Amino acid sequence: MAFQLKSAPTSSFADRSQDEVSTRVRTIIDEIRSEGTAAVQRYSERFDSWTPERFQLDQETIDGLIASLPEQVVEDIAFVQSQVRRFAQAQRDSMQDVEIETLPGVTLGHHHIPIDAVGAYIPGGRYPLTASAHMTIVTAKVAGVPRVVACTPPIRGEIPAATVAAMHMAGADEIYILGGVQAVASMAVGTEDMDRVNLIAGPGNAYVAEAKRQLFGEVGIDLFAGPTEILIVADETADPFTVAVDLLSQAEHGPDSPAVLATTSEELGREVEALVDKILPGMQTKDFAGPAWRDHGRIVICDDMDELWEVADAMAFEHVQVFTAEPREAIERMSNYGALFLGEETCVSYGDKVIGTNHVLPTLGAARYTGGLWVGKFLKTATYQSISNPESSAELGRVCGRAARVELFEGHARSGDVRAWRHGGEKFDW
Ligand code: NAD
Repeated sequence: MAFQLKSAPTSSFADRSQDEVSTRVRTIIDEIRSEGTAAVQRYSERFDSWTPERFQLDQETIDGLIASLPEQVVEDIAFVQSQVRRFAQAQRDSMQDVEIETLPGVTLGHHHIPIDAVGAYIPGGRYPLTASAHMTIVTAKVAGVPRVVACTPPIRGEIPAATVAAMHMAGADEIYILGGVQAVASMAVGTEDMDRVNLIAGPGNAYVAEAKRQLFGEVGIDLFAGPTEILIVADETADPFTVAVDLLSQAEHGPDSPAVLATTSEELGREVEALVDKILPGMQTKDFAGPAWRDHGRIVICDDMDELWEVADAMAFEHVQVFTAEPREAIERMSNYGALFLGEETCVSYGDKVIGTNHVLPTLGAARYTGGLWVGKFLKTATYQSISNPESSAELGRVCGRAARVELFEGHARSGDVRAWRHGGEKFDW
């Protein structure tokens, strides 16, 4: 039976704070819906102390911001975007259109249609999350989305130049310096200054995730990509120092980011716990990583590998690093996760920043029913059908008449009857 060497306290505070988030988000959305830009300005001032004349950046400002960056930063953005683009393009190429003939002359097909307007939320309250621009905007553009609206908050009163460069280089058609619920609600319902979009993609904090949840239906959303989570699955072969460093690499995202080690080795667990305590105080980001580890950090000890896979899969975590003797075993043994990082040579930070798979991934158990952001989320798979053979139409018409009457749908049945008798079938006396 698994036991917890270090367990996170579970308290009713978490539930209460979620209720508070939910109520606040609802109020902001309602006010933006009824007042438009005036409410957007009010909340931008309140939460981000940001009151520009226009939230949208013009081309001159964008060019100036890019020119202000060191060349290496721009080159690195271009490199990572090419990695993300290559993988997204390979995924797009794997999505074939389908067309088959099920009866003589009866054609059924589907094809993939890009959504015509997408909103990309690029988070940035605590850190300028430049990499999220690659993940969301490059992928939408590879899918063929013609209009991508991109929003990111100011960071401590400044425009994040590297993030704007990444948004522009990724192909965003409109760039706004606007964060949180204000941005999500503006994109979803539209304001005097921004036309609405049809799908909102991108990660964010609890307010952003809740705004997407509340607006879903009125607008499409990619997935629930809230506060980041890391699970490290390890056996006795894992290096404790690497495990400790990698746990903290994700805990620094924010005080609400869970970091968990599940292992078959109690010795490893104890070493990692001691190392985390040693490394944490020296981290520049300890104010986020410390509370995250204290309140959401866990070390779970399992009896054997079977139990380890079971525990890991049940968690359905966003990121799963696998440091075992045979890390690729995870591909067979696990089915609930956002992304797997197999072996000690790779890590979540590579996925977050450079390697090219998408870092917008499901959190809070959403990995039970969805994978992460990918090119397919920006495409609508729509079907079509046609019949060129009258005999086939008559055959289907007869079945349609019978099947619809079983369901007491007389109108549907008659549509079938008409086609059946048009091609020599028995004429009903309605
Ligand atoms: P953010 O851009 O998500 O949020 C910043 C905005 O939050 C601000 O602009 C402000 O308007 C709003 N806000 C702040 N305090 C508020 C309050 N009290 N009431 C209402 N609104 C408020 O940036 P962040 O806060 O740095 O969070 C980024 C999040 O994105 C982190 O939680 C990180 O873990 C997550 N993330 C997730 C993934 C994923 O794929 N799941 C990937 C990257 C980042």
